[in-house]
Amino acid sequence: MIIKISKEDYNKIIKQAKEEFPLECCGLLAGIKTEDEIFIKKTYPLTNIDQSSEHFSMDPKEQFAAVKQMRADGYVLVGNYHSHPYTPSRPSEEDKRLAYDGNMLYGILSLKDQQPILNFFRIIDNQLIEKLEWLFA
Ligand SMILES: [Zn+2]
Repeated sequence: MIIKISKEDYNKIIKQAKEEFPLECCGLLAGIKTEDEIFIKKTYPLTNIDQSSEHFSMDPKEQFAAVKQMRADGYVLVGNYHSHPYTPSRPSEEDKRLAYDGNMLYGILSLKDQQPILNFFRIIDNQLIEKLEWLFA
């Protein structure tokens, strides 16, 4: 399984994360899924209603509106993303505990170091983590 994302969407996530720093930012990822790839076609930035540097909750109304919009755009929900302002780009214990869907991508952007790092994971049964390869497309 390979993940593809445009440079534009990648930059959009980084921009949001920097603007909302030191809070975690979050959003949804929509795109097209095939047997062996997930092509992220659009990102939908959402409000972190926790207003925290250590965890996030997406605004349910915005989430609903985003899912409606992505259907109108012809995409499916493929995952979500959030930032880690001070910690590495891997799921925290809380991220694993709250992961509810093994089919979803969990994108985590770390701003811990000067160079932002984005990784995509799968979290199954709140524990098994697979880090997925991704590239610009
Ligand atoms: Zn996290």
